[in-house]
Amino acid sequence: MSKDIIEEVFNKPIPFDGNRYWCPVCLKVYKRKKNLQNHLDKRQCYSLRDILDGSDIERVMKEITKIIYNRESIGDTFLKQIPFYDKLALFVSFCKTNRVDPLFYYVYNEARFEKYNVSWILENAMTNKTLREFFEFRRKNPEWNDEEAFMDSYEQRLTEEPLFLIRAFERGDITVKTFKSKFGDLDKYLNEEQIDRVVSNFQR
Ligand SMILES: [Zn+2]
Repeated sequence: MSKDIIEEVFNKPIPFDGNRYWCPVCLKVYKRKKNLQNHLDKRQCYSLRDILDGSDIERVMKEITKIIYNRESIGDTFLKQIPFYDKLALFVSFCKTNRVDPLFYYVYNEARFEKYNVSWILENAMTNKTLREFFEFRRKNPEWNDEEAFMDSYEQRLTEEPLFLIRAFERGDITVKTFKSKFGDLDKYLNEEQIDRVVSNFQR
């Protein structure tokens, strides 16, 4: 699981009723704060199913599970029982961190992983190599991206941070053509050397 999520869970304030302390994660009760702190330091009392219950990550997990099981909808009970729950949670967290929401559709449908099982696919999708392949794929298939939404969300960074702009082309978040149609020529945003790099690598 993403380290951030776990840290967030364990860094909640410690509940105390004037008499007893209890673990904010598993609700185990302690008389002494020091013992509870030892318990918390081990970071072992959580279950992903509890932590993620009703979260945005679970919402995405349901979308993916619909595809895997070819079902119209996925209920909470069904989701909690799938054998690859933890791996899928990790995978969705990985996609969020790397801003690659459609990565699953890519590895499942396009990357010819279908002869392998779902756990294997999820595990092997969480690598830098797969990310690089996905970025390359997306540069060639910009219809995989909502470029307008991306430009709206990141307008300031795209127009003020040259390295962010170059990285967006590199990742296939947007194409040079779409960027130019909205913001005008590249020379307003990048120096000559940067433009050469972009044009030779990402112009299509
Ligand atoms: Zn606990």
